[in-house]
Amino acid sequence: AVAGKVTADDVEPLSALFPLCMSHLHNGLRSEGHMKHGGRMQFGLFLKGIGLPLDEAIVYWRRAFHKSTDDEFQKKYVYNIRHNYGMEGKRADYTPYSCARIITSNQPGAGDHHGCPFRHFSPDNLRRELLVSGVDEADVQEMLQLVTGGHYQVACTRLFEVTQLARARQQGKAAANVASAETITHPNHYFEQAFNLMS
Ligand code: SF4
Repeated sequence: AVAGKVTADDVEPLSALFPLCMSHLHNGLRSEGHMKHGGRMQFGLFLKGIGLPLDEAIVYWRRAFHKSTDDEFQKKYVYNIRHNYGMEGKRADYTPYSCARIITSNQPGAGDHHGCPFRHFSPDNLRRELLVSGVDEADVQEMLQLVTGGHYQVACTRLFEVTQLARARQQGKAAANVASAETITHPNHYFEQAFNLMS
């Protein structure tokens, strides 16, 4: 974990460094107080990857699922969270999903927030989400063109450059003294690059 030990309270401030897929999941969770299985897997393993340990993950998800009773939370969700941390079932140490996996498998359906916005959103939705993220019109157009050509991760890298890299440059961070970002291949890679820019 690049951020050291991350607590449940750290998730909100660190969310400024999340890639679009994870900020979409995070926002959906905040507004709905609930998340379907595909999203819990994608987002839960991402949070594990940024350094959220099991005990803090349980605190985080319990607070996030504010519409659930304690009993329901224990019965329906705790096993899954422990499972992601290799504490149940086969006790495998599950790793966060890569972009390739998110883009090609388990396509999101109605009511799902998982997936890759560059791959799975309609052009109108993607455009809206990018404008809300503070991207200007010319950059939105460039990203939409990349998406039309199937270059989802290149579009994501461009988003990284016009948001994270541009902000770090404005703040005079030495690490931002690069012409372009490394191509994004993994949501945790996006987060780590963003985190490193800030240090
Ligand atoms: Fe997330 Fe990867 Fe899609 Fe970027 S390209 S939004 S990091 S899945």
